[in-house]
Amino acid sequence: MAGLTVLPPNLVTGNMDGNSTAVPLTPGTDMTGICFGDQLWENGNGLNLMAMDAEQLRKNAHKMVDFIADYYKNIESFPVLSQVEPGYLQKLLPDSAPVQPESLQAVLQEVETKILPGVTHWQSPNYYAYFPSNGSIAGFLGEMLSAGISIVGFSWITSPAATELEMIVLDWLANLLKLPNDFLSKGPGGGAIQGTASEALLVVLLAARDRILREIGKDALGKLVVYGSDQTHSSLQKACQIAGVHPENLRLQRTESCNEYALSPESLGDAISHDIASGLIPFFLCATVGTTSSTAVDPLLALGKITKRNQIWFHVDAAYAGSACICPEYRHHLNGIEEADSFNMNCHKWFLTNFDCSALWIKDRNTLIQSLSTNPEYLKNKASQGRKVIDYKDWQIPLGRRFRSLKLWMVLRLYGVENLQSYIRNHIKLAQQFEDLVAQDTRFEIVATRTFSLVCFRLLPANKNEEYANKLNRDLLDAVNSSGQIFISHTVLSGKYILRFVVGAPLTEERHIVAAWKLFQEASSSLLENS
Ligand SMILES: *Cc1c(COP(=O)(O)O)cnc(C)c1O
Repeated sequence: MAGLTVLPPNLVTGNMDGNSTAVPLTPGTDMTGICFGDQLWENGNGLNLMAMDAEQLRKNAHKMVDFIADYYKNIESFPVLSQVEPGYLQKLLPDSAPVQPESLQAVLQEVETKILPGVTHWQSPNYYAYFPSNGSIAGFLGEMLSAGISIVGFSWITSPAATELEMIVLDWLANLLKLPNDFLSKGPGGGAIQGTASEALLVVLLAARDRILREIGKDALGKLVVYGSDQTHSSLQKACQIAGVHPENLRLQRTESCNEYALSPESLGDAISHDIASGLIPFFLCATVGTTSSTAVDPLLALGKITKRNQIWFHVDAAYAGSACICPEYRHHLNGIEEADSFNMNCHKWFLTNFDCSALWIKDRNTLIQSLSTNPEYLKNKASQGRKVIDYKDWQIPLGRRFRSLKLWMVLRLYGVENLQSYIRNHIKLAQQFEDLVAQDTRFEIVATRTFSLVCFRLLPANKNEEYANKLNRDLLDAVNSSGQIFISHTVLSGKYILRFVVGAPLTEERHIVAAWKLFQEASSSLLENS
């Protein structure tokens, strides 16, 4: 990217009057141009901050909300991708915690001057990297309420509402997605909120492993085989490592020659037959709706038939794209979900629910409980012993769990289904607009078919040299990201280095997409001129 000047790596900050000042982003330099809130700070009645006191809470929490609201007012003035160097914070903060209390004002001033420069702004409208991690007002309010009530809901008795609300909102969401009734809590199945898709995948893998080992004996662990595609999220590999699946028994079927990087049922069938013939035991398939690299959709119906025939646990990972399936016109991507044993979608990606909130549904909850339940004396209680209730501690790795259903409930109630559907549609429309802009410029190439709100594309070099093309696109990514104006990420498909542009931040509007494309064009012209 030699010679390229897109924008100096300056931090352009706005103050409360809406004025903007450019402050060089050097670790240790105060961002003096910025000013969050203007009232004097006190902890209330001139006292030290108490562990808990209703009036102090009210005062300080109001200040914090003002601080956060000001952050959102100014969010476009920060470089989207933090431009600090590794270790920057160690140089700015003292070596030990303060012995005497400090004021909230002093702390928030340091948040402005020292922490925010090291923040990558996931909620910026100019954030297009990885997949989105939506925050919203409703999600924030739910998160606040959850933090405020501050319970630990591992068993029903520890807060009956936490367990019961979780069951209800996951039934609501299952109905929105038109999941089969087997996934509802009224029968032998049900949903639970996990921290992440990775945890969801791990717990179902453990349930599937133990189910088969109960049948064939624990000694067979080394023979168990797991299937996915080379596009399956890396959390499958991690889950296999933790679950003790032999590293050589993870089959990630190649998708390069397949339909848009989707897992081919033929290739899965062949692999299974081959493994059975070798004396191995196929037991788990993870299919993906909306792969991480290019949002490919594995053909659930055909894959499900194969897993059923071979008694293989069928998990469907729709971490990102699951959200789109609340719209009737995208629901067909879940066709075949009837065949699945478990299904997962991250409400914290594209469903306006602040991180973390990963919804997992399972058809036979007893399999999970058999793998993960414990029953120590100190947790025994009448409701649990009487088997009248769900104890979510038996559905997950940790014991403790937060009241996360509050935020999903708030999102569903404060926005309503119609608004959530238009939210998704709007992002997909914006992604389509971006795709059209790319397609009109002959210097660029759209690399994979856009299915949801991810556009995969790359800049083409004049000389058609693939190695050079990869370098060119790496340089283009560096150029746009170091400009601070947008943040995108990349992937490699069929050996080609590709730019990923995902629309999904709640604040993104058409003008942001247009500006982002202009940045790509300018940066590309500069790169091509200097090449
Ligand atoms: C993001 C993603 C994951 C991992 O999500 P976590 O919640 O961070 O574990 C898994 N699978 C797919 C398809 C994803 O897009």
